[in-house]
Amino acid sequence: PETRKEIAAGEVITRPVDAVRELVENSLDADASHIEVAVDGDGTDLVRVRDDGHGMRREDAPLAVERHTTSKLTGPGDIERVSTLGFRGEALPSIAHVADLTVTTNDGGPRGTRVRVRDGAVETETAGRARGTTVEVRDLFHNRPARRKHLGSAKAEFARVSKLLSRYALCHSDTRFSLSHDGRETFSTPGSGDTDALLGVYDRTVAGQSTTFSFAADGSDGGEGNETRVDGVLCYPSVTRATRDHVHVAVNGRPLVDESLRRAVVAGYGSLLPRGRAPVAVVRVTLPPESVDHNVHPAKAEVAFRDDSVYARVEQGVRDALSTADLR
Ligand code: ADP
Ligand code: MG
Repeated sequence: PETRKEIAAGEVITRPVDAVRELVENSLDADASHIEVAVDGDGTDLVRVRDDGHGMRREDAPLAVERHTTSKLTGPGDIERVSTLGFRGEALPSIAHVADLTVTTNDGGPRGTRVRVRDGAVETETAGRARGTTVEVRDLFHNRPARRKHLGSAKAEFARVSKLLSRYALCHSDTRFSLSHDGRETFSTPGSGDTDALLGVYDRTVAGQSTTFSFAADGSDGGEGNETRVDGVLCYPSVTRATRDHVHVAVNGRPLVDESLRRAVVAGYGSLLPRGRAPVAVVRVTLPPESVDHNVHPAKAEVAFRDDSVYARVEQGVRDALSTADLR
């Protein structure tokens, strides 16, 4: 059983970008309003994610790096309706398995806690730190030479991180994000909404020609708190791209690479788009957690809706938003 667990856990982290995704999701789950990500080299040297979220209590910090410890499930059945991004308690232990991991955290008390995991040994000490959490991952895959060999250049691996973080920054536009590579900041967003987030990630032409939108896309469920909402920002068709890569879609706060949802957004633009072009857009779908299964893919990149009329409703909503927008 131990071996099986290790294989399952090891699959979660195959590249530096996987560590970044898990750490950023933890920061968002901790209600951070500011998330700073730093990467050195190809990310195997250092990945650091610093947040100003609720932090961890001293007694909880060492538990968080142990396998299958999560603070996000409180009872049986919860796994069906989780609203946080994480809940399996696998990310920190999986990272600790293949890297040197240091977690420095403070839940708002007079002093913080630092937990270091190196080759399975956990050390806990007191550390100065304001409220929030910093996770440092060093020497990633030092014990996995095959995985290390499989990685691309520093430029290529950083590009993956940059793309991922820009998706989170656009999806969570009320949170401040910054990314730096080898000590130099590559982008930041101010945490003041969609238009400003677009300005942080893209240039002025993109952000300047956009319209924010929000609509209820109720299915058969109806009912209080059971509604499906769709919101985001749609850019003016003249700043189109050759790929659907800039159609940023997210479900319940998690950016996805879901081609069906992207296609629905593009279809909603209809004849506003020149043939073969796709828009720059951010489309968030928020629906009851039990209506969606995020766990069809280990990297959580795909999603399965229990009701696939969501796609048609997104398409129609985008069409309506564009028809009433003041776009020229
Ligand atoms: P999961 O997110 O699935 O619960 P993780 O291994 O990613 O599992 O994290 C384990 C636990 O560590 C979380 O449940 C949470 O309690 C705590 N934790 C991790 N990162 C942070 C953070 N940035 N801020 C506060 N708590 C955190
Ligand atoms: Mg997590």
